[in-house]
Amino acid sequence: MSTPSTTEPANLMEAIVSLAKRRGFVFPSSEIYGGLNGFFDYGPLGVELKKNIRDCWWNDMVRRRDDVVGIETSIIMHPKVWEASGHVAGFSDPLVDCKVSKNRYRADQLFFAPVLITGADGVAQTIGYVSALESADTTGELQAAAELMKRKKAVQGTLTAVQPRDFTEAKPEEITQIPSPATGNPDLTPPRAFNMMFQTNVGAMTDASSVAYLRPETAQGMFVDFKNVVDTGRVKLPFGIAQTGKSFRNEITPRNFIFRSREFEQMEMEFFIHEDDDWAKWHRYWINWCKDWLKSIGLPDSHISEFDHLKEKLAFYSKGTTDIMFKFPFGVQELWGIAARGNYDLTQHATASGKPQEIFDEATKKKFVPHVIEPAVGLDRIFLAVLASGYAEEQVTDEKGNTETRTVLRLSPRLAPVKVAVLPLLKNKEALVGRAQALYTKLKRKYPCFYDEAGAVGRRYRRQDEIGTPWCVTIDFDTIEKEGDTFTLRERDSMQQKRITEAELFALLEEQVY
Ligand code: ATP
Repeated sequence: MSTPSTTEPANLMEAIVSLAKRRGFVFPSSEIYGGLNGFFDYGPLGVELKKNIRDCWWNDMVRRRDDVVGIETSIIMHPKVWEASGHVAGFSDPLVDCKVSKNRYRADQLFFAPVLITGADGVAQTIGYVSALESADTTGELQAAAELMKRKKAVQGTLTAVQPRDFTEAKPEEITQIPSPATGNPDLTPPRAFNMMFQTNVGAMTDASSVAYLRPETAQGMFVDFKNVVDTGRVKLPFGIAQTGKSFRNEITPRNFIFRSREFEQMEMEFFIHEDDDWAKWHRYWINWCKDWLKSIGLPDSHISEFDHLKEKLAFYSKGTTDIMFKFPFGVQELWGIAARGNYDLTQHATASGKPQEIFDEATKKKFVPHVIEPAVGLDRIFLAVLASGYAEEQVTDEKGNTETRTVLRLSPRLAPVKVAVLPLLKNKEALVGRAQALYTKLKRKYPCFYDEAGAVGRRYRRQDEIGTPWCVTIDFDTIEKEGDTFTLRERDSMQQKRITEAELFALLEEQVY
């Protein structure tokens, strides 16, 4: 085999969605009934990949640290939790309706710009407005639309480069001129607040007194159980409480596959610190920790960046929020938010419940409410980042000179759903099959692995490449005829092969899968 050359598929998102469906990673929910927008199912390989991401996070965030403990709280909590947290009053996104098409948009994801032309006399005039939905190149789309408008209206002069603003910033006189992306005419309503919490009723009565909510984040569970955890006596400041679990948001525009869905899983940690502690130091510590962790599961450094929220756009209690951004196929977007939330949440719950949420400081003999740093990430978003950055199509040439395209998912051995595939060279040679099955049975006790005896070995390698299996071991004639009981180990990315003993194989797995 010669060195493979990587080609970027024409549409990476389409390639990922298609692979996810074809190989059983992700399916649309309720697909036989046409699917339900914003909901997804994880198939046999997807559920393994997702579990591996969650387990890596849990092991590194909770089990391997002495200062973080885990909990699991209920999805439906007392409705007063969501009043105290501010979600009932304020957990909303700005919604815009198109009066004609009935399409709905999130105002902060809908961009517009006036089309400004400067004539020979130096006077600038607005000849209309253009709009575009947020994309990897919103400015480029608006610029192209502006140029088209200038040509269509046959206006002479110089077009000023567009300055995109989002629809929440549109003035009333602009709203009546900005075209709807659906109709091209100014059919949009002013933005209004749309609460994203899903409501349900608890118990047999369906009146106002039984209203409850599916949680829109897991974080409140940690605040509400703060005292319970402290009173069990295992923790001392600074310490964290972590949990993973489902959250639900009635997103106005679920999109980009599993990036923004209506039911998703979060992995959140509340790190409590002394009120006099240096919050900025801890904030930086957790930003670095999260970035290092993403790299430890195989995400490329080149795709990871930071975005600091503007001070003036933060909630009044927030000291600072930094998002870890990731280069997705549709643009650079938030993956992980790290927020310094002061003591707002515990104070809110103390006031609303009448139960103090304080800690006693031995040094000063005073009680105080701890402050918190919150790293909050979506498991499904990491899943997508892993697929998007791991997917590659390569041109490979075999020793006979034949070129073919191989699809490979470069997953970290920590995350791969199948760690190793066991392949007897031929399925009708008892000695090969017997040795392969003995190895498979032994491996399976410790590692997820796969036994495959169907078809040519090259084809079997390709099937494993596509699902991200880091290693294949082939039991061949050298295994059974020569001394040493060695197998051919074939590595996914380099496609290099070498001979390896069973003990060496277990040592390799022990080192790489943790
Ligand atoms: P966004 O601005 O993208 O709506 P957010 O800032 O509201 O996200 P947080 O409330 O900070 O998000 O949630 C923490 C994390 O949960 C996000 O960084 C993201 O990874 C994940 N997340 C939030 N909403 C969704 C969703 N609808 N689908 C999948 N993951 C989500």
